[in-house]
Amino acid sequence: MTNETLMNSSQPIKQFLEMIETRCDLCGSSNDKLLFEKEGFRHVCCLTCGLVYVNPRLKFHKDFQTVSGTGSMGEDHLSHSQIRRICKELSMLDNYRKLNRILEIGPGKGWFLSIAKLVGWETWAMEINLDAIENLKRKGIKNIITSGSETLDTGHESFDVIRMWDVIEHLESPRALLQQIFNNLRAGGLLRLSTTNFNSLSRMVNGPDWVYLNGSDHIVLFEPVTIEKLLKLVGFRRIRIWTRSFNLRRKLYHPEKEIKVRFHPLRPFRKIIDETIKFTNLGHQMIVDAVKDS
Ligand SMILES: [Zn+2]
Repeated sequence: MTNETLMNSSQPIKQFLEMIETRCDLCGSSNDKLLFEKEGFRHVCCLTCGLVYVNPRLKFHKDFQTVSGTGSMGEDHLSHSQIRRICKELSMLDNYRKLNRILEIGPGKGWFLSIAKLVGWETWAMEINLDAIENLKRKGIKNIITSGSETLDTGHESFDVIRMWDVIEHLESPRALLQQIFNNLRAGGLLRLSTTNFNSLSRMVNGPDWVYLNGSDHIVLFEPVTIEKLLKLVGFRRIRIWTRSFNLRRKLYHPEKEIKVRFHPLRPFRKIIDETIKFTNLGHQMIVDAVKDS
């Protein structure tokens, strides 16, 4: 079903709630165990490799992502500290600048690419969300790949850097896209991605109420061990993984569903935990640098 047929369809709404059984995207096994169910979505753990994912998932998951959103898509305006953070990241990425070509997959409001363009990068975006595509065009990002979220065919070894921020958890097959990313990076090029960390203190404390557990959007939930296994499987050898952030209020995603935690025993300590959790692998945001061997 294409995006257009989804929007114009007069099929009963029930059709869009159809679920489909799936296998582990990391190892291919169908041997899983139920961890918990949330809002009608079963979250399972692969008994072979440990990957956590939603099974069954919505049959038309990708079509929904195309029209109804891929997360928050980011802020309408950037603060000074956010601009400073992007500039700092771009300055680090200069170490990889040879072809002068950078691709962001799921760029949301396009802030990162806009600033990358200002400092001279040839900017590319891969996006399926219709609102996001319009927004990118308004920001002057001309190279937009709109093909399906697991299809990236730009010719091999085209990019110095591929960035993918809070996208991989939305994909039906992270493995398929990571393989494409590996193929499309030049030798010595960098993949930088971010995703939520299932093995985080926030998730352990909040259990199934953890705000990032949203079975209609987030269908594959990585942690350091599983993302490293997958990156190695597609060919990456030089991999660095770190985590940051702890928050009890859980306001970053779907704020309307936030559950206020006023009296949690960890509340008085949340700031100090947030500041120190980066020294562990238990932060709720996981960031990964993976370099393709030269
Ligand atoms: Zn598995």
